[in-house]
Amino acid sequence: MPELPEVETTRRGIATVMAGRRLDQFIVHENRLRWPVPAELPHTLQGRVVQACERRGKYLLIRFAHGVQIVHLGMSGSLRRVPMNEPRRKHDHAEWVLGDARFLYHDPRRFGAILWHDLNLGPVEQHPLLARLGMEPFDTAFDGKHLHRCFKDRAVSIKQALLAGDAVVGVGNIYASEALFKARINPQTPAGKISAARCNTLATAIRKTLSQALEAGGSTLRDYVNSTGEPGAYFTLHAAMYERAGKPCPRCETPVKRIVQGQRATYFCPVCQRR
Ligand SMILES: [Zn+2]
Repeated sequence: MPELPEVETTRRGIATVMAGRRLDQFIVHENRLRWPVPAELPHTLQGRVVQACERRGKYLLIRFAHGVQIVHLGMSGSLRRVPMNEPRRKHDHAEWVLGDARFLYHDPRRFGAILWHDLNLGPVEQHPLLARLGMEPFDTAFDGKHLHRCFKDRAVSIKQALLAGDAVVGVGNIYASEALFKARINPQTPAGKISAARCNTLATAIRKTLSQALEAGGSTLRDYVNSTGEPGAYFTLHAAMYERAGKPCPRCETPVKRIVQGQRATYFCPVCQRR
C-alpha cells in the first residue's frame, strides 16, 4: 500500500512538472473509484493553471485558483508520468495532460479517490476527509508533548493509537513497528502509560523512520514518476523488525516476535522492547 513516503515522493515528482503549467485536459476513463469522480471535473479543470501540488496525510492536493483536486492512491494505486504515446493499460482510470507531459492514475482495486473541493466552500483543510487528520510528522509543532497530550488516558495499545492517525499521520503498519523498535517501546503498552520522556523519544523515532523511507524513495523517484517499472512497486524499506519474525534483532540478536493487534501484524524485540 502506498504510505506517506510514497505519496510524498509522488508529490515531489508531479510538482516539478505540474506546478505553474496549464492543464490542457483532465480525462476520466473510469469514474467508479471509492467515490464517483465528479462528472463535471474535466470541464472544471480544462485550461486551468496548476498552482501547486501539496500533500496532507496520504492525500495529494493539486491546487488551482478556484479549487483543489484531492487525489488518494487507495490500496494499490499510483500516479505516474508516462510518454504521450504510451497506450493506456487496464486500470488506468484518469489522465492529466499538460503540454508534452502526461500523467496516468492507475488503481487496480479502485479504493482510491479523485475529488474536487471548491474554494468557495472554505479552505481545503476543512474538507471532511482532511479535517480530522492528525499532525504532519514533519511539522515543526510535532513533538513528544503533542503525542503525550493525544495519548493521555488512552487504554488502547500504543501501536493501535499510532495507526489510528489522529495523533500523527503517516505512521502505517510498517512504520509503527519500526518506530516503536527505535524508541524501545513495547507495542502492547497502553498509549496513556507512555511517559512524556518516552513520547519525546517516540516522536524523534517516527521522524527518523519516515525520513529514512523518504531517502530510500529518493533513489527510485525517477522510476516512480517517469514509470518504466510496474506501478505499485513501492519502496522496500530496510526494516529492522517488519516481516522479520524469528530473525535476530539487529540490536541484541533475540528472535523478532510477531503478534497480531487489531488484525494487523506487529513485529518487535521482546528484549529491547520489554514492557
Ligand atoms: Zn533486541
